[in-house]
Amino acid sequence: VTNAIENRLNRLRGSLPAEEPGARGIERVARNPDCTRLRALTIAGITPATAAVQIYGEPAREGQSPFALAIGNRFENVLMANGGAALLTRYRDNGRLTVRECKVVVVPDLAPGTTPVSMARRRAETDRLFRLKLQQSSKAPNLIVKPRIPVRLLGIDHDTEPDALVAADTDQFYRPAEIKSYPDRDGKTDAADIRGACRQAAVGVVSLRHALDRFGIRDSEQLVRSRGDLILRAPGSMRPTLREMTLRGEVASLERAIGEAPKDLDELEAMLPPGATLDDQRVLDSIPNAYRSNCREHCALAGRCKQAAIAAADPVVLGDSARELLAAAGTLSRALELLQGRGKPPRTAAEQAIADRLRESLLEYRKAVGNVP
Ligand code: SF4
Repeated sequence: VTNAIENRLNRLRGSLPAEEPGARGIERVARNPDCTRLRALTIAGITPATAAVQIYGEPAREGQSPFALAIGNRFENVLMANGGAALLTRYRDNGRLTVRECKVVVVPDLAPGTTPVSMARRRAETDRLFRLKLQQSSKAPNLIVKPRIPVRLLGIDHDTEPDALVAADTDQFYRPAEIKSYPDRDGKTDAADIRGACRQAAVGVVSLRHALDRFGIRDSEQLVRSRGDLILRAPGSMRPTLREMTLRGEVASLERAIGEAPKDLDELEAMLPPGATLDDQRVLDSIPNAYRSNCREHCALAGRCKQAAIAAADPVVLGDSARELLAAAGTLSRALELLQGRGKPPRTAAEQAIADRLRESLLEYRKAVGNVP
């Protein structure tokens, strides 16, 4: 981020410090691309959790349980011990790597620490390894652990750190791998957990394509397919399992989200009054949101946005299909008027269609319960 942009972002955040959204923040935007408020926060580098606590004064919510964190850390340590032996074995057993393909680079070991200087070095080291691979050098690693790759989202480069990248010597480029300590119970693994991991792996795909774009490689989509590996934990053990996932839908929705407005800082600043800062509740409230029933799965502002939807009698409080069906009415009270033939007669063909549909459904319901007037 150049100094000029950094200054503008600092101004926009007001009193709040910068936070890197990372892969999680980027995939969050893809989960609700219609929400301008979330995009604004992400552009500025404020997480919804910080906004809830620091801007709206809500109590801080618990993060991941210490137990889950401890299992996650232990699992990663087991995988990475002895030069990533357990992970390499898994890839070998799945036929993706041979015994000789065992070159592993752990990027944080090349640039330890958390200072901006070490982060810049990690980015540079990652680029160096990518160049080796693009030159098809025999020194290119087969496993890169925790590379640091910027993703251009909303006009600003956000650093991401995929858990690992994998490539056989004959592969043209890398594939992202997402490591999760969930027990892999085949069809019984929590579908929401799998979807979440796939969305993060999709950020890896997009970050690799952006890296190739930076290197001036044209067919980045050919070199980095919409595929990723999920490394999960065999139940009752610390052994890794490997699932190869197709991520077409996840990558497509990320790319769509990246193209939506406001897609950059210029557009965001143009939306706000001069000098407005996002740490001001009134400013943040003035930016349109788009509450959806799945907001609570990923955004710490969901409780607040739901209350606002209830206060506005927004049809979304009845679920996403009601939101779509009743969109032209705008509010639940108007939908009720249309059903009961009260208030103003239907103002548009779309309102008339809602009135007809609601009356038909009411009639069907009455027939079903034996209550035909
Ligand atoms: S909870 Fe609110 S701010 Fe967060 S994504 Fe949903 S609508 Fe947007």
